[in-house]
Amino acid sequence: MHPKAGGRRSVKAAALAAALSLGVAGCAYNEELGRNQLMFGVGEDSMAEAGSAAWQDIKEQQTISRDSRYTERLNRVAPRLLRASGEDPAEWEYLVFEDPTLNAFALPGKKIGIHTGIMDIMQNDAQLAAVVGHEIAHVEYNHAGERSSQNLLAQLGLVGTSIALGSRCGDNPRAGTDCSQNAQQLAQVLGVGAMYGLILPYSRKHELEADAGGVRYMARAGYDASEALEFWTRMAQASANQERPAEFASTHPATETRIENLRREIAQLGQGT
Ligand SMILES: [Zn+2]
Repeated sequence: MHPKAGGRRSVKAAALAAALSLGVAGCAYNEELGRNQLMFGVGEDSMAEAGSAAWQDIKEQQTISRDSRYTERLNRVAPRLLRASGEDPAEWEYLVFEDPTLNAFALPGKKIGIHTGIMDIMQNDAQLAAVVGHEIAHVEYNHAGERSSQNLLAQLGLVGTSIALGSRCGDNPRAGTDCSQNAQQLAQVLGVGAMYGLILPYSRKHELEADAGGVRYMARAGYDASEALEFWTRMAQASANQERPAEFASTHPATETRIENLRREIAQLGQGT
């Protein structure tokens, strides 16, 4: 363990703990996404642990908004959407952070953070539902776990042999020294990979999947899903005008692609525009 500045230590410790529960490898078919997901080295429980540690850091380092204009809206919208997505709202934490950037994020372990900057461009509850639904979908689809798996494999250069390595360590109780050496090596990589994995931008594919999941949750919760189109259009305008720094927008797919994808999804929901 290398002592590091302040709050990052707990994330690193959690990531290390995650690495020690190695042995899961391969692909898992996700029915809702209709595709295989790479899951290597990082179990969902370990991701949740790392996510919760990161969330704790963020809560200590950033100012949590107590402004009722924001909190009342989030406290109205988030539970309704969570129930619609089959989740128990009591298991989730969702907070508004005082930060002027156009950003929102989700962490494994059922945490959602929304910046005041992005709250300010919303005209109604449904537009917040578009953002919260998007973030719930990232968590539901275990996008962070998949991304960490990809990072881990990329760093180890093991893309082609992941399953072989995993099964040697995971299934053979006599794997012994070989296996523990692998585990140590993986732990080192994961200590970095998982930590950054939680904050790195998602791929365009993950973003579009989260958009699609988000509007499905909106519709199930009884929100007008077409407000998602309105919201992302406003996001694009706010970013273009450079009223505020737009991290959320810059790490996300081009507006045209996103809007086109959303239109298609909304049409399938029968709410159409
Ligand atoms: Zn996203």
